Amino acid sequence: MHRRAFLFSAAVGGVGLLGGCGSRKEEAAPALITQPRIQWRLASSFPRGLDTIFGAAEVLARRVEALTEGRFQIRVYPAGELVPGLQVLDAVQQGTVQMGHTASYYFTGKNPALAFDTTLPFGLTARQHNAWLYYGGGLELLRAVFADFNVINFPGGNTGAQMGGWFRREIQSVSDMRGLKMRIPGLGGEVMSRLGVVVQVLAGGDIYPALERGAIDAAEWVGPYDDEKLGFHRVARFYYYPGWWEPGACLSFYVNRLAWERLPRTYQQAIEVAAYEANVSMLAHYDQQNPLALERLLKAGVQLRRFPADVMEAARQIAFSLYEEQASRDGTYRKLYDSWRQFRERAYRWFGTAERSYAEFAFPTP
Ligand code: CA
Repeated sequence: MHRRAFLFSAAVGGVGLLGGCGSRKEEAAPALITQPRIQWRLASSFPRGLDTIFGAAEVLARRVEALTEGRFQIRVYPAGELVPGLQVLDAVQQGTVQMGHTASYYFTGKNPALAFDTTLPFGLTARQHNAWLYYGGGLELLRAVFADFNVINFPGGNTGAQMGGWFRREIQSVSDMRGLKMRIPGLGGEVMSRLGVVVQVLAGGDIYPALERGAIDAAEWVGPYDDEKLGFHRVARFYYYPGWWEPGACLSFYVNRLAWERLPRTYQQAIEVAAYEANVSMLAHYDQQNPLALERLLKAGVQLRRFPADVMEAARQIAFSLYEEQASRDGTYRKLYDSWRQFRERAYRWFGTAERSYAEFAFPTP
């Protein structure tokens, strides 16, 4: 067992001990036998009931524990148990917890550039976002932003393209958006409000009753699998798509920098590889569950509707003028925006070729 642990460490740690200098080899082996027992706490921004999202943090914790033969344990706490869901960044920054799992766009009040870590209206799909983060320089730029918060960030799960939400009445054109009362947070809400929508920000549990009694006309949440659980289809018949404000919402794991630096290198590698796994498996989980949930919703009488083209066009123009405004007054935002925008243009051209022509031919139109 110790030999296996040693070989694993040598392989992933890149320390080149095999066949290397003898004295280093003798030093390293006893140190690995006494790899420390470490227990961390991870604060999630999400409730247990969102099993795909909350579950991504559990995927990470289980893998880290297995890779370290039980020595490094991370206990995952749902929103509100240790800290409220929207205080996860503060908690990791201050070291109240060593780790967090959250969506960085909750914290754009601290730095607007954090939106690029999650998603922006008319932004990247899940695949494009991963490509930008892992290979297109995005993660490096975002890590520089997170360094100000004493945090190291890892991509930690994606919802894929979300749905546009539940509407009590149909939208025929952009003029129908004026005066519509809709629950929609974040940048999507800012764009909607410039379209004349009366934007409401309600927590998950408050949406259903507001929709039911007509206090709001529409509400967005995530997609079929999560929306079904909240029962919106019972109080609003029209289910719009796509959720152009969240074409691939990416969650993040946050690690407190000091806690990270104190970890043995193999434990750091365990977190890194487990975060990759969580990032892939959350999207796969959604891609498996959403088709089934959509079938059930359609059987229950839900009417699918596509957003009218003029709504999408007006929204896209507003979104990009918002980005330009922000970039003109904020150098950090400008850096992220330029990298993201250039990546997006190239990715769109490429995805507009093989991916799109295949999708148009192969996928049924609802
Ligand atoms: Ca959403």
